[in-house]
Amino acid sequence: PATANSIAKFANGLADDLLSTIYLATQAKIIIAPAMNTVMWQHNTVQKNIATLVKNQATIIEPDSGELACGEVGTGKLASVATLVAQISASSDDPLVSETQADFECKHIVITAGPTQEAIDPVRYISNHSSGRMGFALAQAAKALGATVTLITGPVILRDIDGVKMVHVVSAADMFSAVKAHINKADIFIASAAVADYHCEKIADQKIKKSADQITLTLNRNPDIVGYVGALAKPPFVVGFAAETENLYRNAKDKLKNKNLDMVVANLVGVPDSGFNSINNTVSIIDKNSQVDIANKEKTALAFDILRLVEKAL
Ligand code: C5P
Repeated sequence: PATANSIAKFANGLADDLLSTIYLATQAKIIIAPAMNTVMWQHNTVQKNIATLVKNQATIIEPDSGELACGEVGTGKLASVATLVAQISASSDDPLVSETQADFECKHIVITAGPTQEAIDPVRYISNHSSGRMGFALAQAAKALGATVTLITGPVILRDIDGVKMVHVVSAADMFSAVKAHINKADIFIASAAVADYHCEKIADQKIKKSADQITLTLNRNPDIVGYVGALAKPPFVVGFAAETENLYRNAKDKLKNKNLDMVVANLVGVPDSGFNSINNTVSIIDKNSQVDIANKEKTALAFDILRLVEKAL
């Protein structure tokens, strides 16, 4: 776990202990896995030091979010063992160590993540609680397994992933255009975004004033992005997500069939510590022939499980 102190030393060339001395004296590849308090991690000085290390060719394994040693909850937890192993293997030139990486080499994976925002007027929008964490974890894992990754994300507070093509969008219509622009190169498409189902028929030019006691918004259906990909003449391997508050399995099975998906990751939302906005997830991964249940796992580790199952199905 790299502390803010060690990171500051590396970034500024201080060499007053064994670790910082070795850092300066080695030509080996540098991989840094930071772990610290959230406010510390977000501090401008720490982030400036991290940027310096990245400029100096170091690889940063981003910290996870969760309960920290200091008792606070937020970003700053050492990345999970699965993430550390995968990212270290992916960075290694040693064929024995990098063996795990070969799985998705030559594969292009397009992933959607986060919520979409549907504008009501210049200051308001309709959206949902998606944090984007599952999609970002999948992109990290896919990159670590050697894939070429395009991550199309709605507005989230997560940091762009190095080595992943990032496409930032706002509305479902933007996300649809971005998917259409990138899908022809995809071997695998993973739709983890919580795309808004409706958009406002009219977006007001000016902020709507609260003069009337009641107003009515007319909403029109958004395009079904994953449905479009599933219906392509030569679709990639398509993974959809099903976030349901009831009848999880029936709805997930229906989605598999109706949207022509190869796999569905189903999770019950509205239960504690799972689904939207949480660090962990409890899911059932369903394809035409099988079902794998995974209970209460960090999304970063779950991402590897999902990709292993995709690999098996392929
Ligand atoms: O039908 P439902 O929205 O529950 O399906 C969820 C799955 O469909 C997710 O994989 C989600 O990313 C995808 N989806 C989509 N475009 C939409 C709505 C959902 O790609 N307009």
